[in-house]
Amino acid sequence: MKIFKITVSIVVLGLLMACGGNTSNEEHSEERKPTSQERIQQQAREKEENNVSENSEVKEVTIEGNDRMKFNKEEIRVKAGQTVRLTLKHVGEMPKEQMGHNWVLLTQGTDIMEFGQAAATAQDNDYIPEAESDKIIVHTELLGGGEEDTIEFTAPEKGTYDFICSFPGHVALMKGKFIVE
Ligand code: ZN
Repeated sequence: MKIFKITVSIVVLGLLMACGGNTSNEEHSEERKPTSQERIQQQAREKEENNVSENSEVKEVTIEGNDRMKFNKEEIRVKAGQTVRLTLKHVGEMPKEQMGHNWVLLTQGTDIMEFGQAAATAQDNDYIPEAESDKIIVHTELLGGGEEDTIEFTAPEKGTYDFICSFPGHVALMKGKFIVE
């Protein structure tokens, strides 16, 4: 009987310990759970955010400039962080010395007429004024009729930006809004 009792108490003790162990484990894991869950949720959120910026297909944009000094688009819409592959096509026939076109995306708040004036003095750099480079997010090359240029860049933060052609005198007509959503 004694042996049986001892066995029983050991078993009971064992069960208690097991239970105690389980309980404390559960408590521990419950204490940690929110943290790890939060971490997982945060990772998932980060993944989603990354997916939005990285996985969204590359945004292909084609914009044309012609001999009548016009772009065929006044508005381009993209998503923040999206990779934009923009092609400028000069669909006219005039040489770039007479009817050059480029596509210049400017930082928010840049006065496009002032920028255009500065650009006009930068003939030796295809009308990309180096002194104003902090106002340029990205730009294509200067093109003549029949030429095209493709640039790839990451869309800046949400907001509305101006794009222009910086060839002398063109900014008044060749301009539009680059809208990042
Ligand atoms: Zn132009």
